[in-house]
Amino acid sequence: MQTHAFAAFAAGSKLGPHTIERRAIGAHDVGMDILYCGVCHSDIHQVNNDWGGSTFPIVPGHEVLGRVTEIGSHVTKYKIGDIIGVGCFVDSCRTCNPCKEGEENFCEGAVTWTYNTVVPGQSLPTYGGYSKYMVVDEQYALRVDPSMDLSRVAPLLCAGITTYSPLRHWNIGKGSKLAVLGLGGLGHMAVKFGVAFGAEVTVLSSSENKRADALALGAHKFVNYKNADEASTCNNSFDLIIDSVSAPHDLNFFMLMLKRDSTMVLLGLPSVPTEFSHRSVISKRRNLSGSSIGGTKETQEMLDFCAANSIYCDVEVIPLSEINTAYERMNRNDIKYRFVIDLNAE
Ligand code: NAP
Ligand code: ZN
Ligand code: ZN
Repeated sequence: MQTHAFAAFAAGSKLGPHTIERRAIGAHDVGMDILYCGVCHSDIHQVNNDWGGSTFPIVPGHEVLGRVTEIGSHVTKYKIGDIIGVGCFVDSCRTCNPCKEGEENFCEGAVTWTYNTVVPGQSLPTYGGYSKYMVVDEQYALRVDPSMDLSRVAPLLCAGITTYSPLRHWNIGKGSKLAVLGLGGLGHMAVKFGVAFGAEVTVLSSSENKRADALALGAHKFVNYKNADEASTCNNSFDLIIDSVSAPHDLNFFMLMLKRDSTMVLLGLPSVPTEFSHRSVISKRRNLSGSSIGGTKETQEMLDFCAANSIYCDVEVIPLSEINTAYERMNRNDIKYRFVIDLNAE
């Protein structure tokens, strides 16, 4: 089935209208009309081919939310009319231990990413949610409470789970001192989850104009780390730092803010590797780690947690035709705090 989409046709090019083909509904597939799709900084990295391996034309979008319009003959989880979400991947090997444990994000075989993956034996890559219609295996779709504010739910499918997962993994809760480095799409969700889990949350930001927002989001403290005096008050003070910065930055400067035995979790994926001093880890037996989105099991848990606790993303809704302006604004750090495409808006 042909569907309308927006694609980039070469690395770094602007996005424009494109027609893509979606596969016919298989026995375990659901077809969905896409209602909303969030705009993640990873979309920009892949359009720019920052990480290598992008195939063009590329149709980004992995914060996809829609309504089921068709179901295959063996589908048991969903019925027509249900609201579902699709995150960063749409298939995996299904046989390795991570897959069996619902942590398909750590699949040891082949993950089929929602876009930009050429599946062996198929000529075309997968295409993402900057489009009107999608077909997905029911096992890789997530259930969304239809009474939720849906445009504000879409970014939970990446920004939400990517921040929820490490906070759960490192047991962040009452008594924890959490720092969120970078207040963007991921960062603002890390603040909301950290506060919801009972932690004391500090935002470490390069943008003075986000001070009031950070506190309104529930953070207990805002530190403009460009101000050396302010930054120095943070040394040896955090149990966990969630690093969501999209651009290259000096990791050592922030490692020194961790307490003994505490952990820096890298989420941001800048295009160039970061210089790193061994001393910043060795001196206080600190840990350097990372985290990659989350599996279907935990993503469902996160969506249910957000429904139960009214946790939503702060979004600016745009029509698909404004995607290039959205990218320009994200590149100059002018967004509070996630663009979401309304696929039914002109
Ligand atoms: P975003 O909304 O654009 O936010 C990035 C934030 O980084 C900005 O709000 C800004 O925070 C800071 N920043 C940007 N440019 C900077 C610069 N030149 N110097 C210092 N700070 C800068 O991006 P996002 O969608 O949250 O994504 C963040 C990163 O995470 C991206 O690299 C993305 O690819 C990656 N990501 C990783 C995963 C994963 O599974 N690990 C999942 C999704 C995304 P301040 O203004 O507060 O300084
Ligand atoms: Zn993403
Ligand atoms: Zn696997």
